[in-house]
Amino acid sequence: MPTRAVAAVLAAILAGWLALAVVPAAAQEPVPTPFVADVLWAPIPAAGSDGRRHLVYELRIGNTAASGLALDKIEVLDEPSGKLLLSLDRDGLGKRFSIGGRRGSESTDLGVGQFGVLFVHVALEPNDQPRAIAHRISLRLVQPGVDFSATVARTPVVDRPEVLLGPPLVGAGYIVGDGCCDSIRHVRALLALNGHFTLAQRFAIDWEQADPENRLVKGDTKTLANYTIYGRDVLAVADGTVVSSRNDLPEQVPGALPQGITIDQVDGNFVVLDIGGGNYVLYAHMQPGSVTVKAGAKVKRGEVLGKVGNTGNTQAPHLHLHVMDGPSPLASNGVPYVFDSFKLTAVDKAGTADFDKAEATGSPLTLTPVSPHQVLSRVLPLDLSVVEFSR
Ligand SMILES: [Zn+2]
Repeated sequence: MPTRAVAAVLAAILAGWLALAVVPAAAQEPVPTPFVADVLWAPIPAAGSDGRRHLVYELRIGNTAASGLALDKIEVLDEPSGKLLLSLDRDGLGKRFSIGGRRGSESTDLGVGQFGVLFVHVALEPNDQPRAIAHRISLRLVQPGVDFSATVARTPVVDRPEVLLGPPLVGAGYIVGDGCCDSIRHVRALLALNGHFTLAQRFAIDWEQADPENRLVKGDTKTLANYTIYGRDVLAVADGTVVSSRNDLPEQVPGALPQGITIDQVDGNFVVLDIGGGNYVLYAHMQPGSVTVKAGAKVKRGEVLGKVGNTGNTQAPHLHLHVMDGPSPLASNGVPYVFDSFKLTAVDKAGTADFDKAEATGSPLTLTPVSPHQVLSRVLPLDLSVVEFSR
């Protein structure tokens, strides 16, 4: 195509963008956009221990323009009412928009040909129950310096039966590590597997346990038995059938993640349990020799599956637990779940850094007691909640 014709087409597209800026989103004609945007998986609301429902999902945006794009604002809107559910400005976007979907590469600017993934968390107001949502994306084309806005990336909000679980552990002082919804290590564990994205760990919890002095570990942090949770029984959270398990991997020395671990070893000694309804539970990092159930075994809720250990990709004894929509611990989609009952006894309001320090050094957690303790039912304990489970 001659250069002048290319310029004419580009001018026409640019005119389209400029026109779109003043045309309602309901226009029937297709309209050119300088980007593509889609929600990777339709969100499933999570019922949180704060009494609210939470939408946790990923919005992918790719730059299709011949110019860099500078994101200004992204708003989450109820469909079809248009009610504003969340607004992220540049500051908020800069903490949640990862170039290439890679954690640690956050930016508000998309270069030519780049894509990014926005890790979205909407804490819904009590009366909001959206059935569908859309996204108003406002940005600036760096060349020629034009503001642009469009409402795109519509998705249903999935109405799915709740996944109701019994206790995975029994006792007091269990703390939710890297839990829903604004922690990073699980919620943003987007992986490219088999040529497409997966996010199985979106609602995963790394369970650890505080002792009566609020310590995760007492004494030498290299000694497994010094960790409060080490050796606790791990229980079936529901009746189910074992899909796969492993029992032969050695314990790691705590204090650092192991080097050179392969993808088939990351979960350590594990169990995947099919609990029906298209839901599967992963239990990871258990003690060698403790996993007594094998593929095909039927288990009952409350049955012991193994003991908390430190095998696989782990730096301190803990129980990693998540629910997914397929039997593969990584190549499936993470779904929210609730526990039928637990007691909320404290919250670590000092954040993940406080949790990490307590794990690495044996310093006490900075816990804020919940007084009186709250007995909660059919909710997901949110990040850094401290809970007591009883049978
Ligand atoms: Zn984990």
